[in-house]
Amino acid sequence: MSGFDYDLFVIGAGSGGVRAARISASHGARVAIAEEHRVGGTCVIRGCVPKKMLVYGSMFAEELSHAENYGWTIEGKSFDWAKLRDFVNADVDRLEGLYGKTLASHEVELFAERATITGPNSVKLASGREITAAHILIAVGGWPAMPAFSGVEHCISSNEVFHLETQPKSLMVVGGGYIAMEFAGVFNALGSEVTVINRSDCVLRGYDEQVVERMLHIAMGRGIVFRMNSEVASVEKQDDGSLLVDLGGTEKVKVDQVLVATGRSAKTAGLGLECVGIELGKGGAIPVDEYSRTNCPSIYAVGDVTDRVQLTPVAIREGHAFADTVFGKNPRTVDYENIPSAVFCQPPLAGVGLTEQEAKETHGKVKTYVAEFRPMKNLYSPHAERGLYKMVVDEVTEKILGIHMIGPEAPEILQIAAVALKAGLTKQAFDETVALHPSMAEELVLLK
Ligand code: NDP
Repeated sequence: MSGFDYDLFVIGAGSGGVRAARISASHGARVAIAEEHRVGGTCVIRGCVPKKMLVYGSMFAEELSHAENYGWTIEGKSFDWAKLRDFVNADVDRLEGLYGKTLASHEVELFAERATITGPNSVKLASGREITAAHILIAVGGWPAMPAFSGVEHCISSNEVFHLETQPKSLMVVGGGYIAMEFAGVFNALGSEVTVINRSDCVLRGYDEQVVERMLHIAMGRGIVFRMNSEVASVEKQDDGSLLVDLGGTEKVKVDQVLVATGRSAKTAGLGLECVGIELGKGGAIPVDEYSRTNCPSIYAVGDVTDRVQLTPVAIREGHAFADTVFGKNPRTVDYENIPSAVFCQPPLAGVGLTEQEAKETHGKVKTYVAEFRPMKNLYSPHAERGLYKMVVDEVTEKILGIHMIGPEAPEILQIAAVALKAGLTKQAFDETVALHPSMAEELVLLK
């Protein structure tokens, strides 16, 4: 038993922090965790989970319009934003409770207050109590980075979007990343007028260009307006509560809400890192080695606060690897190669491995196989949208380098396809697999 109050003190009870706390405790460590907001962190409280539920909620609009063609008569259908919002937030409460129970059942002591670092082995709680620990894990995550235009305080971020009093009739979305595309899709499906303001002519940077182009085509067909190479100069609140957005020059646009989604920064301000000699990197992120250790040997960091890959499953793996390394006598690192990811726009897109462009740059000769198809489910869709699946392979070995897709359920299909890529399979393995008919996924084994 060390002379410290705890073996491990975790700051931040999000995905990475909770996993690290739970696994460390199961390895026999005495663990405490501090959370200043709500147990669950970004993913559970104001990210992946409530976002996906809003996506599901908004998709009923299209499903219901298709339903009539399939013989259903639905009288008096209407939509109530407050009901969806409250339903989503009630589920967030439920999950927060489950996360709390998990901590309690592993005898992790929870301090529901802010903790800051006061030394290599000490933290101070907001209530004033000083606590010592052999190891400290920083898992405080990230926070929306708001640009510095005048009137930005009238805009909302993804933190507030889950709590809007009313559904905006018109919504401006600033940014062209994950959050921008996902919420543009949600509010467009719910019937709001949506305009995306993007500073370049590229959205979803890092995803395969052909797939992104298809996403843009579909989104525009559904009525989302994209203003590329455009930036917000200022936002002014009007007497009627609406917002007047100056896009530079003479042009001003009036909307009900402006959602800013221009990236997220590490939430390190005021954490006391300077007192232990930790210097911050880009966007305030904490530099760590492959074992998530900072330059202060007793302090580690995992998840979005480290600016490696800002994805929940990655934070969870980092937290688990930390616990196994420090308390489980099993030092291990996280493999960042070929992480699958998805954007829950409508329809969703997903990708794993190299894009066609990246493959050409790194492998020289590559072959691409593309399937374009109208999903059977869309037979009655007024938009006649076509899905697109793409496989990028090494021209010589036919080893799969990347799989990219857009279409209904693309993330569900890609998760499994990612196993094939991770296993180093060639396209032949797909060719040899009999199609499961009729499905959308069969397109992946029928690529010519
Ligand atoms: P992203 O990094 O995905 O995108 C940021 C967008 O904002 C880019 O289009 C960027 O343009 C633009 N931008 C950046 N700075 C400015 C600025 N000052 N003015 C105008 N535009 C700007 O960030 P998000 O906020 O969408 O999401 C944050 C992170 O959260 C993501 O990186 C992702 O890892 C995670 N996330 C994951 C989801 C998922 O897995 N489905 C869902 C939601 C979030 P440019 O490309 O030119 O730099």
